[in-house]
Amino acid sequence: MEQVKIPVLDLTPEIEALWDELMAAIQKVLKSGQFIMGPNVKAFEQEVAAYLGVKHAIGVNSGTDALVIALRSAGIGPGDEVITTPFTFFATAEAISQVGAIPVFVDIDPKTFNIDPELIEPAITPKTKAILPVHLYGQAADMDPIMGLAAKYNLKVIEDTAQAFGGEYKGRKLGTIGNVGCFSFFPSKNLGAFGDGGLIATNDDEIAEIARMLRVHGARKKYYNEMIGYNSRLDEIQAAILRVKLPHIDEWNEARRQAAKRYNELLKDVPGIVTPYEAPYAKHVYHQYTIRVLNGRRNEVKKHLEEQGISTMIYYPVPVHKLPVYANKNYRLPEAEKAAGEVLSLPIWSQITEEMQKQIKRNFEDALA
Ligand SMILES: *Cc1c(COP(=O)(O)O)cnc(C)c1O
Repeated sequence: MEQVKIPVLDLTPEIEALWDELMAAIQKVLKSGQFIMGPNVKAFEQEVAAYLGVKHAIGVNSGTDALVIALRSAGIGPGDEVITTPFTFFATAEAISQVGAIPVFVDIDPKTFNIDPELIEPAITPKTKAILPVHLYGQAADMDPIMGLAAKYNLKVIEDTAQAFGGEYKGRKLGTIGNVGCFSFFPSKNLGAFGDGGLIATNDDEIAEIARMLRVHGARKKYYNEMIGYNSRLDEIQAAILRVKLPHIDEWNEARRQAAKRYNELLKDVPGIVTPYEAPYAKHVYHQYTIRVLNGRRNEVKKHLEEQGISTMIYYPVPVHKLPVYANKNYRLPEAEKAAGEVLSLPIWSQITEEMQKQIKRNFEDALA
C-alpha cells in the first residue's frame, strides 16, 4: 500500500473549490477602498445573526477579543469569579484574567471533555458572577444544568464557541443559549478566515450595545469616547471571505460528521484507544476528532504516526490550571489531568478521504501492535 503524507488539517481543497468567488470578493474590497467597518462587516453580521437565529452579531478582531469584550459587556470585572473548564485553549482563562476577574476551574466530564455541570455548584461563592463553558472540539457542553444554576444563583453564562460554529445543543445553535456567545475565525477553526477574526452573538440589547462600543475604543460616536475600550474590529477583507464561506458551513460540518463516523467504524476494533463520545444532546461538528490512547502510550503512538508521515495534535498537553500563571492555586483536577496525558486529535477536515482514514487506521494498528 502506498503511504502518503497526511497533514492534521488541509485547507487547500476548501480554498480551491471557492477560489473564483474568494478572489472576486477580495478584489471588490480592494477596489472599494473601504477596509474597516464597511458593508461586508455589516452584511456578515446580519448573515451570521440570521444563521444563528440571534438578535445581534458583532464582529471583532479575534476569538480572544470576543471573550474579553463579552465578559466586560456582561458586567464581569475586577474581583469577580468566573467558573470555567481547565481543559481548553489558554485564551478562555486568559480572557477572564484580562478583565481582572478570577478563573475558577472545575473538572471535566471524562466522556465529553467538557465542564462537568455537577461540579459547578460546589464551586459557587458569593463572588461568582459567571459560568464560562467551552464547547470543546465542536461538541456542546451540557447547557441545561448550567443555565439552571445560572438562574438559581443569578450568574451570567458566556459560551466559548470558538471550536463549534454551527454545532447544536438539543437543536439550538451553540453560542445562543447563554447570555452571550463567542466565536473565533482563526484560519484553522471550522469556519476560518485568512487571518484573525472573531464574533460575539447575543440576544441581549444591553450587552450588544456595550460590545459595539468596546470594539471601537468605547465610543458610540467617533471621538466621543465614553469607556476604555479596544481596537478590535473584524476587517472588511476577512468579512468578505467569511461571507463566501458561511453558506457552506452546514455542508462542511456534515462532511466532518461523516468523516468522524468513518473513523469510528475504522477504529472501533483497534485495542487501547477510545473513540469520541457523542452526547445525545449534542450535534457535534468535529472541529477536532479526538481519541484517547490508553496505557500511557499516547506519545509513543504519536511519534510512530509522525514517522509514517501522519500528523496529529495534542489539544491540550497541559491543562490550564497547571500552566505557570495559574499553578500557584494547586488545583487537583484529575480528569483534566488524565485527559491531557491521553488525548490525540487525528487529521480531520471536510474533504479528508476514506483512503487517508484507512491508511491512518493501518498505522494505528502497527503503532499499537
Ligand atoms: C481558538 C480558541 C480561542 C481563541 O480564538 P482566537 O481567534 O485564536 O483568539 C478561544 N477559545 C478556544 C476554545 C479556542 O479554541
